[in-house]
Amino acid sequence: MILMNDFKAEPPELKASMAAAVARVADSGHFVLGPEVAGFERDWAARCEVAHGVGVGNGMDAIEIGLRALGIGPGDEVITTAMTAFATVLAILRSGATPVLADIRPETALLDRRSVERCLSPRTRALLLVHLYGQADDLDAWEAFCSSNRIALIEDCAQAHLARFNGRPVGSVGAIGAWSFYPTKNLGALGDGGMLVTQDHDIARKAASLRNYGQTVRYHHAEIGLNSRLDEMQAALLSARLTWLDRFTARRQTVADAYRARIRHALVTPMAAATAPATHVHHLFVVTTPRRDALQQHLQDRGVQTHIHYPIPIHRQAAVPDLQRDPQGLPAAEAHAASCLSLPCHPGLNDADVEVVIDAVNAFAP
Ligand SMILES: *Cc1c(COP(=O)(O)O)cnc(C)c1O
Repeated sequence: MILMNDFKAEPPELKASMAAAVARVADSGHFVLGPEVAGFERDWAARCEVAHGVGVGNGMDAIEIGLRALGIGPGDEVITTAMTAFATVLAILRSGATPVLADIRPETALLDRRSVERCLSPRTRALLLVHLYGQADDLDAWEAFCSSNRIALIEDCAQAHLARFNGRPVGSVGAIGAWSFYPTKNLGALGDGGMLVTQDHDIARKAASLRNYGQTVRYHHAEIGLNSRLDEMQAALLSARLTWLDRFTARRQTVADAYRARIRHALVTPMAAATAPATHVHHLFVVTTPRRDALQQHLQDRGVQTHIHYPIPIHRQAAVPDLQRDPQGLPAAEAHAASCLSLPCHPGLNDADVEVVIDAVNAFAP
């Protein structure tokens, strides 16, 4: 079976460096908020070309803590996309703010400007931009949009490690960049992890307090915080894995290029490649087809695993039936949810695997 992710097949050198990282932390006797976290915060902030990184428990908490560090909460509206991981919207709800869902552009599945404009209100405090599938698109335009509307730009970078727009890394453009290091992300831990990055010293200090019970000085609690800390073990593992991230990203891009060049099917359309100055780090490689479920079954029968990102747009989720949204509805998000399919696109795929996937798609006879 060609899997969506295949951690068992990772390079032996990487496995050895991870084993060494585990041993180092075990021997250090320091497990929470120590030198490994501080070192990885520094290194990841440097890769993001920003001044500060604050390691947190996961990507969802990075967004919630970021919103709260910006002073966004009850009574405030945050505009985001209906086509994203549920965690994006859950983080807004957890901060006490009100999510407002905008529609997507069909070509990229990224936020549609006109729809976002329809979602603006006097209560709008932020736009939470999701770099879905690993795409960094229109960042300069969104930055200008947010500044002219006097709202904060927050970037959900959970799928876009190392993506850049017009030379700038994602996460460095908004007031806050929120990262997830969930195992399947382009940079993943061996468990949960996340980070918030920012240029702003005060936001970083506030976030560092919020992740640690709202504590300022030990046993002094200035506000109601969370317990959401990146731990030493995960930080050490992430440092080991970070040294492979450039190579892994290049391999994802090679796989995606091969798919785009050689998938030829009347009913299966690969989503567009990024055009400069946008980049795409291919957290996922997504095709659309009117026969999605049949294609998924066909590929399964041919030994190719696929997933759907995402089968249910946010506003159709049972937990949140009444979310505010674009008054004209969210038809593009609904159409995308019904037609998208993610093919295996990870750094462990070899050339023969890529052939199998391409041949299997091209042989689809609905
Ligand atoms: C994975 C993901 C998250 C949540 O990250 P966790 O670390 O699982 O909390 C948020 N947003 C997007 C777009 C994601 O893909």
